[in-house]
Amino acid sequence: MYKPVDPKVVFPKMEEEILKFWNENHIFEKSIKNRADADEYVFYDGPPFATGLPHFGHLVPGTIKDIIPRYITMKGKRVERRFGWDCHGLPVEYEMEKELGISGKTQIEKFGVAKFNEACRSIVLRYTDEWRRIMTRSGRWVDFDHDYKTMDSDYMESIWWVMKSLWDKKLIYKGHYILPTCPRCSTPLSNHELNLGGYKDVHDPAITVRFKSKSEKNTWFLAWTTTPWTLISNLGLSVGPEIDYVKIADKSNGSFYILAEARLGDYFKSEDDYGIEWTKKGSELDGLKYEPIFPYFADHSEKGAFRVFTGAHVSTEDGTGIVHTAPGFGEEDYAVMKGSGVPVVCPVDDEGQFTKEVPDYAGRFVKDCDKDIIKLLKDNGTLIKRDQILHSYPHCWRCDSPLIYKAV
Ligand SMILES: [Zn+2]
Repeated sequence: MYKPVDPKVVFPKMEEEILKFWNENHIFEKSIKNRADADEYVFYDGPPFATGLPHFGHLVPGTIKDIIPRYITMKGKRVERRFGWDCHGLPVEYEMEKELGISGKTQIEKFGVAKFNEACRSIVLRYTDEWRRIMTRSGRWVDFDHDYKTMDSDYMESIWWVMKSLWDKKLIYKGHYILPTCPRCSTPLSNHELNLGGYKDVHDPAITVRFKSKSEKNTWFLAWTTTPWTLISNLGLSVGPEIDYVKIADKSNGSFYILAEARLGDYFKSEDDYGIEWTKKGSELDGLKYEPIFPYFADHSEKGAFRVFTGAHVSTEDGTGIVHTAPGFGEEDYAVMKGSGVPVVCPVDDEGQFTKEVPDYAGRFVKDCDKDIIKLLKDNGTLIKRDQILHSYPHCWRCDSPLIYKAV
């Protein structure tokens, strides 16, 4: 009544026999053909790069993605499953850069963009056979014979069609993203890449500078930054709306300073060194104007720049509780000033060098200008305090350079 069960079953062998049966009898193909008139169910897998081999991270989601179309098929729908290949972007460029012994946008342009594209095209489908073998062996039903490639003209035309349709519906606008950028590779990095490179502890200057108030006599706002080179692109100061700020008289020089009450201890040794003029919430400082410390973008004053903004990101953990705000170089800075009508300024090129908009530093790598900028601020009385900070800072996974955040 029972079939005897072989106690020495070898599962991989059993799988191979099933795969052989599927293959010889075209079971997957039949599961579609048999439902020629049935409703279609569309399932596209995110296309992988064929410049790398499949790994464990592809197998688990691949199995899950196999289950759903099978289930829908059993419910009676017709599910074609065209596999696709992602042919664009950094993975293939990076492979080709290694092969050609070049690196970065500038060297690629020197090599010739068309030539480089052709070289990439030659390797972009390098591992499709391995993918087919491994995906099939894992029991997955996908159609490799009618695969699509993101480098196919009709595929790219479809993307352009989508863009045009969105454009026609007025759903596209021009904005900025503040992204970590590698100045050596001249490219922005994705969040995923940010994690690949990792954070390293580095020393950076931490300086406090003063911004002269336009409404109160002999009074300055104190702000703190670890990126002195971004001061050139300062367009605002951010305060926390609920944070208590004080205006104090510095007894050593008779000047008045505005900073967070909680940060006073960092700037004065003793309470006898200053007298408090007033205490206000950050929200009460909103809109107060100050004089720009650099001339390059001073004309933005007419467009609403150089005033106090309020932002939830401001804390009293470090600095003065007033954040120097350069919307071209910080995500939070950008968010605070978005919608204010102040144009974003970003006088730094893809290689991390100042552009002609900043004639005094044009062509120099921004971080190399920190020292000169600090010296200038010291000489003209803008620098109040100079420290060093040891903090974790993101680096490029490709070339290990420290990244800079900038608008693209
Ligand atoms: Zn890099």
